[in-house]
Amino acid sequence: MFRRVIVFNAMLLILMAGGLAGCSENSDDPTINVFSVNDDMELGKQVDAEILSNPQEYPILDSATNPGAYAHLYRIRDMILASGKVFYAQRFGWRCRIIKNDSVVNAFCVPGGNMYFYTGLIKLLDNEAQFAGVMAHEMAHADRRHSTDQMTKAYGIQILLSILLGNNASTLEQMVADLANGLGTLAFSRSNEYEADEYAVKYLYPTAYDSPSLGDFFTKLEGQSQPPTFLSTHPSPEDRLTKINEQFQALGGVHGQTFPERYAEFKSTLP
Ligand SMILES: [Zn+2]
Repeated sequence: MFRRVIVFNAMLLILMAGGLAGCSENSDDPTINVFSVNDDMELGKQVDAEILSNPQEYPILDSATNPGAYAHLYRIRDMILASGKVFYAQRFGWRCRIIKNDSVVNAFCVPGGNMYFYTGLIKLLDNEAQFAGVMAHEMAHADRRHSTDQMTKAYGIQILLSILLGNNASTLEQMVADLANGLGTLAFSRSNEYEADEYAVKYLYPTAYDSPSLGDFFTKLEGQSQPPTFLSTHPSPEDRLTKINEQFQALGGVHGQTFPERYAEFKSTLP
């Protein structure tokens, strides 16, 4: 009984402190998230700053000296954003950066939509539709606000409450550090991964891309002798491929294009 009263008071205070923070702006996303959409964007900025301050771990390919590679990346991003299916397409920044490390097969997206792609991932893939599938999957994590959903769960209402009230700066710093350094400390849940796959297919379906190509990527990963980083941060349950194909069939099952030649050009622009 006592416990219930405390929880109720905490919820009330969160509503008072955070305004509409707990209410989703996206009616298609009923998840309880005590952060506001602006918090996602602010948190993303801080994570970006952490990443950019660590060039040893994250050697970013300079966009000024590699305009060709970035032109391909942004063209692919813009095709996904033009699908009309990305809820925060206009609001988030969706900035893309390439990390120069051929031995890492991975990509990630920070809250608020900025994305990072390792050259090891770009070079492994065979066509643009596969890459667009991975990009759409990462975009879905940001668009569905999975990081702050997980933080809501991981850090608990009491800590979040003190952050909202502005007297727990060190906890916020710790959370940013977890996101920037671990990128696994706050691992997405299995249901987050399924949802990111589902939305990746939804984002790609209205575009020229073949929308189930994300599945080809998983098949390709499983054929690698060294298990790539992507599989350690993105668990690959057996039914993931099946779910991608089910989603594709549910949308109508019409295949798009894979653009292997254009993708070969993209890869040729990388150092
Ligand atoms: Zn994922």
